Amino acid sequence: MKVVVTGGAGFIGANLCRELARRGAEVLVLDDLSTGRRANLDGLDVELRVQSVLDRDAVVYACAGADTVVHLAAVPSVTRSLMNPRHSHDVNVTGSLEVLEAACAAGAHVVLASSSSVYGRNPALPKSEEMACVPVSPYASGKLAAESYALSFQHCFDLPCTVFRFFNVFGPLQLPDHPYAAVIPTFIWSALRGQPLTVFGDGEQTRDFTFVDSVVGVLADSVLRSVSCTRPVNLAFGTRTSLNDVVALLSALLGRKLEVARRPQRAGDVRHSQASGTSLRRLFPQARPVSLEMALSRTIEWV
Ligand code: NAD
Repeated sequence: MKVVVTGGAGFIGANLCRELARRGAEVLVLDDLSTGRRANLDGLDVELRVQSVLDRDAVVYACAGADTVVHLAAVPSVTRSLMNPRHSHDVNVTGSLEVLEAACAAGAHVVLASSSSVYGRNPALPKSEEMACVPVSPYASGKLAAESYALSFQHCFDLPCTVFRFFNVFGPLQLPDHPYAAVIPTFIWSALRGQPLTVFGDGEQTRDFTFVDSVVGVLADSVLRSVSCTRPVNLAFGTRTSLNDVVALLSALLGRKLEVARRPQRAGDVRHSQASGTSLRRLFPQARPVSLEMALSRTIEWV
């Protein structure tokens, strides 16, 4: 089976390439290395082409003969989308369109990465896929546009595809200086350097943290079983953990009380986030999340 992974040199992409290679797939990565790293693919039997998803010929050439295209390449940052909405749109929307057209021409199945940020200002919990999406950043608008393109290609051109909305993914290969600035790697790196952990607000805000192994397990299943779904699917397991609880778990794992530096709450931060995992469980009944404690412990080992 030939699988193209756009953004395959990034955090989630490289973890996925490892899993796909382990399951016997022939993997081709298309990545411009803007935030991804060649070293993430060290030791893996995958082909890396350092090219952009905006390079139509490169995308068409890479997708020729592919069974599945997993589209992860993106400018994955709300902040960057605020600084340069047009660049965010070009990569995240136009780049997605390039990938969808090439996959369609190749007769390939598509797996596309969207984001829980599409729910935006809608405060209802848990976030179910039927809820109204109210994006509050150009990044979220771009993700909503890309998933909408994928589902329209499915409807109009019979393109088999699954659109996944990722929540707060964390784990090995995720760097604290990454534009996504994920809280868990930042906490771990600070803790291991003996620095205080910065918490914005009272720390009672919650997130549906998802370990990257759980995410790539579902993505790989979706690839190998060519799962297709007419609606987006939340890729998270419906748990809700506060930042204060993450600090307590890390303190327990590292065997010392970690110091916290409290800062004012940031404007625009979502208070709570939690997925409804109903669609995920229906499509992937065998998927099981790694416990947060185990996942944190494996992330600490990697750092
Ligand atoms: P990442 O930055 O590690 O991966 C993105 C990859 O895309 C990088 O390797 C980068 O070099 C590549 N890329 C960027 N622009 C490109 C272009 N024009 N052409 C080819 N490659 C390009 O980030 P990640 O966390 O692994 O994110 C993967 C996907 O998951 C993204 O689509 C992101 O929006 C989505 N996502 C991630 C999270 C999360 O918690 N990490 C949450 C929601 C959605």
